[in-house]
Amino acid sequence: MAKFEGSCQCGAVTYASDGEPIFVGACHCTNCQKWTGSAFSMMVAVPKPSFTVRGGRLATHHDVGDSGKATHRHFCAACGCTIYDEVDVNPSMVMIPVGTLANPDAVKPQLHVYWKHHASWVDGLLALPKFDALPPH
Ligand SMILES: [Zn+2]
Ligand SMILES: [Zn+2]
Repeated sequence: MAKFEGSCQCGAVTYASDGEPIFVGACHCTNCQKWTGSAFSMMVAVPKPSFTVRGGRLATHHDVGDSGKATHRHFCAACGCTIYDEVDVNPSMVMIPVGTLANPDAVKPQLHVYWKHHASWVDGLLALPKFDALPPH
């Protein structure tokens, strides 16, 4: 049975991995900041041979990461949701965005990477006021 399963936003692409996580972490690289439109991505890295993708059509964006090596972001061609990233700096793993997991609570973040690029306000995020939906207006 797969340890991890997930899908894109529209459901056309699904994936599974039966591998042990290599790490679960927030990536603050400038590449992830642009790609997510946010301050960082939250990724679970799994061994590449453990990872399978089904259905849908993937498109790929090739870029150069902050490592100086190539990155390959594979996303659903229908909805644009990232399914997995490959990085030439470590070709034995793929990185899955935690938010695409069927159960994002199945993994626990362990570390931050590319912290040198973190937004100065990241440390204060958990202290901010919290609402269960949009704030009252
Ligand atoms: Zn999709
Ligand atoms: Zn990154």
